[in-house]
Amino acid sequence: MAEKKKNSAAEDAAKKALEAAAAKKAAGKKKIQHTYTQVGQETTTTEELLDATKKNALPCRIFAFVLWILAIGCEVMAILFFTHTVEFSFTTENPGWTISWAVSLGLDLVFVIIGSLLWKKGNHLDPAPKKNKARFWIQNNLGVIISVIAFAPFIIFALTDKKANKQSKIIAVVAAAIALVVAGLVSYDWNPLSQEEMLENAHIDTVYWTASGTVYHAYDDCGHLNNTVELFTGTSQTAIENGKTRLCKTCEARAAREAEITIDTSDKDVVTTKE
Ligand SMILES: [Zn+2]
Repeated sequence: MAEKKKNSAAEDAAKKALEAAAAKKAAGKKKIQHTYTQVGQETTTTEELLDATKKNALPCRIFAFVLWILAIGCEVMAILFFTHTVEFSFTTENPGWTISWAVSLGLDLVFVIIGSLLWKKGNHLDPAPKKNKARFWIQNNLGVIISVIAFAPFIIFALTDKKANKQSKIIAVVAAAIALVVAGLVSYDWNPLSQEEMLENAHIDTVYWTASGTVYHAYDDCGHLNNTVELFTGTSQTAIENGKTRLCKTCEARAAREAEITIDTSDKDVVTTKE
């Protein structure tokens, strides 16, 4: 009897869990009601479009350079403090001396990272053409190159300095090396976009995008749009003009799948006519 009761209790629990899962699924599937804002296309030719993307990227690129210059300025300060070339009464001995170069190095890292993030954003707004391999490589790796410039000289100066003791040297070199690696990893573009890739999808009649996103979608029921009410719609060229330079990967895969299905059925037609 007790066994039976136990069983039915377990069954009840299982049933409840199933119901909860079904309810959750239904809630997830519930279609969000979008509002649409139609956006007009401003450019017609590819040249005009590329001029527009350049203009979009320009502020990011200018700020990136300003921050990188500040970063290298901080590195110079760190070197001058570390080597006792510049001394304030506060920095003549520890802990003032350590604080002086360590803070300079920290600011160096902050400026490099923000600059590199802006540089990457600029490259996504206005990607480099892949056909020019050298330019494509330099443009997409400039953040990493700057990271090396922003820390490697300090490491060399710290290693070759004659006044600092061994312990200070080790701390300085390790700190700068970690900063270099962190800055390099943040600066590296793990998913670079090429101008060719951007232009390849620039001729879709109707796409959708959100105010904050960086991609545009071919389907307004794309899962990535489930949490956004306000959608903008227009041609893919318009989306690119508005800084959404990439087609959503999920939508791209779905479009490819649907195209494949169309090809499959046409293949079958060929087979039947042969028979
Ligand atoms: Zn999508």
